[in-house]
Amino acid sequence: MPLPSTVDCSAVGDGSAAIRELVATFVAREVTPVAAALDAEPEFPADLYRSMAALNLFGITVPERYGGAGARALDYLHVMEGLSFGYASVADQCGLVELVSCLLAGYGTDAQRDRYLTPLLAARRLCAYALTEPQAGSDLRGIASRADRVDGGWRLSGEKVFIHNAPVADFAVVLARTGERDLSVFLVDLDRPGVSRTYKERKMGQRASQVGGLRFDAVALPDDALLGEAGAGLRYMTGVLAKGRLGIAGLSLGISRAALTAATAQAEVRVTFGRPIGANQAVAFPLADAYTGYRAGLLLAEDAARLLDAGAPQAGTACAMAKLFASEGAVRHASTAVQVFGGAGYIEGCVAERLYRDARITTLYEGTSEIQRLIIARSIVDSRRAGPARSGGAA
Ligand SMILES: Cc1cc2nc3c(=O)[nH]c(=O)nc-3n(C[C@H](O)[C@H](O)[C@H](O)COP(=O)(O)OP(=O)(O)OC[C@H]3O[C@@H](n4cnc5c(N)ncnc54)[C@H](O)[C@@H]3O)c2cc1C
Repeated sequence: MPLPSTVDCSAVGDGSAAIRELVATFVAREVTPVAAALDAEPEFPADLYRSMAALNLFGITVPERYGGAGARALDYLHVMEGLSFGYASVADQCGLVELVSCLLAGYGTDAQRDRYLTPLLAARRLCAYALTEPQAGSDLRGIASRADRVDGGWRLSGEKVFIHNAPVADFAVVLARTGERDLSVFLVDLDRPGVSRTYKERKMGQRASQVGGLRFDAVALPDDALLGEAGAGLRYMTGVLAKGRLGIAGLSLGISRAALTAATAQAEVRVTFGRPIGANQAVAFPLADAYTGYRAGLLLAEDAARLLDAGAPQAGTACAMAKLFASEGAVRHASTAVQVFGGAGYIEGCVAERLYRDARITTLYEGTSEIQRLIIARSIVDSRRAGPARSGGAA
């Protein structure tokens, strides 16, 4: 049975071919060749980070007047997929900047945009996005970090865990409690007195992504550290999380495509009992299923991206569906790749082994699979209760 020699994503969707081409060239030249080394010696990929800024791959959906690429969510999806095909930790940086820059573009003042957004998009300052706490992950209502009003500003105390870029970031977007039921967003320079970087995690995969903790001990913040309105924090964060989930769907699809490409090539060259292993249906059928799953995931994510671009009310649910399907697919497809490689697939240095580890986090961060199911289920139950007019409503 013939197997496709590569998995092609270019035939699907109407995303800009120029952006996909740009990413594919960058990835082939600069990312794929160093992915294994970045995994083995986990370092923040500073040179790749600067190259991404130079190629305008930060702030994909941020308006051009603020220094972004002014492109669509559909383009953002394709960029994330393409970068992750090379290495997921590189895509992670693009996703992180996208979330933070959308918040700054959407809710920041001119002064805040000058201070944070412009240098962020130019790779002169690194950001972190700090929501999770020891007692608040899936349920952000449990956030205990507090920002109290004081003369001339705010005083911030609390602890954040599992934060991307915490060990290296210059500033963080921090969600903190400003009232019994109110959460607000603060822009916190991480060199302020009272801020400490508590630890750096050792992780199963995506090892070049630096993840760690932050502690705030009565940190004095100026008035203009508040982003947008006090008390609107959960609404702001929820607004960008749909795009974040779309991004992780893209990242997951990139891992799937990389796993399928490697496994297909192996199925063609590895010979047992006198013929390539891919000539056996026992090997080819799981690849056929994975290839089908990849394309289904891509179509689902492209549909979600178009809904997001159109500002459709059901975009939140669609992004949750895309993230759920693509991330669970990435874990399965990377596992299929390990199986196709046989014993070699379990050994460090084999691309399937790294992809398997890199895939595992995708069903956890940016909202676990269970939380995506909750979002989807709530939209179904709500729409039934409200009648057909609200069918498929937002999460
Ligand atoms: C590598 C990595 C990077 C991360 N980066 C960031 C970052 O940059 N910024 C940030 O703020 N956070 C980040 N996180 C945190 C991540 O978003 C959380 O770990 C995730 O949201 C889950 O929260 P939790 O770990 O507290 O799990 P919990 O909320 O304690 O959940 C534990 C389990 O219970 C399930 N569960 C919980 N509630 C329900 C329910 N009501 N119904 C059904 N199942 C439920 C969950 O799905 C999960 O399986 C990162 C985490 C990791 C590991």
